[in-house]
Amino acid sequence: NTPLHELDPDVAAAVDAELHRQQSTLEMIASENFAPVAVMEAQGTVLTNKYAEGYPGRRYYGGCEHVDVAEQIAIDRVKELFGAEYANVQPHSGASANQAALFAIAQPGDTILGLDLAHGGHLTHGMRLNFSGKQFNVVPYHVDEAGLVDMAEVERLAKENSPKVIIAGWSAYPRQLDFAEFRRIADEVGAYLWVDMAHFAGLVAAGLHPNPVPFADVVTSTTHKTLGGPRGGIILARNKDFAKKLNSAVFPGFQGGPLEHVIAAKAVSFKVAASEEFKERQQRTLDGARILAERLVQDDAKAVGVDVLSGGTDVHLVLVDLRNSELDGQQAEDRLHEVGITVNRNAIPNDPRPPMVTSGLRIGTPALATRGFQEEDFREVADVIAEALKPGFDADALKARVSALAAKHPLYPNL
Ligand code: PLP
Repeated sequence: NTPLHELDPDVAAAVDAELHRQQSTLEMIASENFAPVAVMEAQGTVLTNKYAEGYPGRRYYGGCEHVDVAEQIAIDRVKELFGAEYANVQPHSGASANQAALFAIAQPGDTILGLDLAHGGHLTHGMRLNFSGKQFNVVPYHVDEAGLVDMAEVERLAKENSPKVIIAGWSAYPRQLDFAEFRRIADEVGAYLWVDMAHFAGLVAAGLHPNPVPFADVVTSTTHKTLGGPRGGIILARNKDFAKKLNSAVFPGFQGGPLEHVIAAKAVSFKVAASEEFKERQQRTLDGARILAERLVQDDAKAVGVDVLSGGTDVHLVLVDLRNSELDGQQAEDRLHEVGITVNRNAIPNDPRPPMVTSGLRIGTPALATRGFQEEDFREVADVIAEALKPGFDADALKARVSALAAKHPLYPNL
């Protein structure tokens, strides 16, 4: 029963330092969020000790009566939240959910259509070094000159290549996808439609983004981005047609024992996601991203070569285009880090710079919205970012403004 600080001061020190980093800086990585204390509490319980291969009521181990309750609660809540008839809450991560989903509806060697990684897609949508790119015949689609997914290209490529699966979803894209149009194209060529809503699931849960569940054959998501829960994945489907295939793709296909402590934490986060407070938070997330985009297209930003892809956003992130700036993506990321704002550099479509450098930044607002940021706070952050990307910026003055915002909205005050 020795506490962590006594048993392992080295690891405890790293945890403490990370808590301090999260508290004292502004987290604007679009895929990150702050899990509620109750979610972390559930994750830190004795459920971590339990083996429970199988599914509630059909386990390969004894003593599963209590984890069955927690897992069934998670399943029921997430089905309700997204209007799905089928849910699997066991995938250890988004990538694991995607792997299981793809193998449930396609065979290695089949053709899949996904958004190119360099245009905002995810690794698991067909990147060359990922399982999806190694084991499937990938046909990538792209965004057009305006930065929008080119649906005419999707339709043309679908007709030319007769894919088994069309993937709709993204990791770096500032607009909503047209799920009805993806469905129409999938039906036209006899393909399955898989939507990966990892990034925007929280917006969907709040009713602030179209829900892909009614349109797709399979929907996957992470639980830790806009959804604000523990790190993990889920698979949903509008009906039970693929239930057996999806369940057996997760277990025994790719996973052994489920992480029941994480599943309990997922259940807690689904309860939170159904609340009015969550909806209000997602609205502030969207407002914050819009405020940031509006600030970064003003004349003083344009004058130093800063621009915003697609001219704005209707989700929780902004993609900053630095092709005309003196700063590359790496330098801009470092610059913001220096003043206490954490973002990630991101390749933009047709990026002239190499992937480790890039000409873009991906900046998201979910974590700050969770921290309680209001419109005036987002205006202040947006201004700090715009100032930091200018030559001759005043690092100390900007750092002080960041610290004031962090102090105004304390994070995990009781930890
Ligand atoms: N799908 C999308 C669209 C993502 O953006 C991500 C992560 O960034 C994933 C899946 C993978 O999630 P994980 O990192 O939990 O494997």
